[in-house]
Amino acid sequence: MAITYKPQLQYVDFQDLTEQIRFQSTEGKIWFGEQRMLLMQVSAMAAFRREMVNTMGIERAKGFLLRLGYQSGLKDAELARKLRPHCSELDIFLAGPQLHSLKGMVKVVPMEIDIDHDSGSFYGELEWVDSFEVDICQTELGQMDEPVCWSLLGYACAYTSSFMGREIIFREVSCRGCGDEKCMIVGKPAEEWEDAAEFAQYFKADTIMEELYDLQSQVSSLRSSLEKQEGQYYGIGQSASYNKVCKMIDKAALVKCRSYC
Ligand SMILES: [Zn+2]
Repeated sequence: MAITYKPQLQYVDFQDLTEQIRFQSTEGKIWFGEQRMLLMQVSAMAAFRREMVNTMGIERAKGFLLRLGYQSGLKDAELARKLRPHCSELDIFLAGPQLHSLKGMVKVVPMEIDIDHDSGSFYGELEWVDSFEVDICQTELGQMDEPVCWSLLGYACAYTSSFMGREIIFREVSCRGCGDEKCMIVGKPAEEWEDAAEFAQYFKADTIMEELYDLQSQVSSLRSSLEKQEGQYYGIGQSASYNKVCKMIDKAALVKCRSYC
């Protein structure tokens, strides 16, 4: 049966989610259900993101943060089903956006959600209000040329894919981080996006080490080729003084050999 979320509907109470949080301060641990959590400053994340963008470029940094959010979304989808076993499909699904809010990452306002488990169809439109990623970009990197809510987007993709049991891709169609009025995301099955294969590349393990090894091998090969050329035309191997020294050694060795023979 198809379920459509109407904007006038509200989230169910957060209580079933908030009561999962436990502080074991004397043990140095914070828990959310069975998952160990961390409380860390947004400013530390901001500095980390700036360093990633500056050292590895926007595309690689984006991939890392999409995958970071993806891992978090997978864990939360498992948790949502466990925490809301008797709720409607819609309320179980909405645990994901509620968890995003609870963690202080963003306020999520669902605009339209159509879920049909029988046919596997899914369509979602949600607004992100006060995204922490927009805040850190604005303080550390300034206005960007493209949407910036990367880890939030990875979370939405993983959470919904796990929830639907098929690959659902969300894209951020507008973002305050690049000057738009709002952060808005749209989600639908992967095959309904024309550039799904290109986007999926962000979720594959990064090959930076292989590229570095390739470059290292190319540099080594170029260096040895240059050394060979130097030896051939200008190096010690062909110099007059080198040849003179070699002849002197040969001569001395011959004299010594004769004296022993
Ligand atoms: Zn955004």
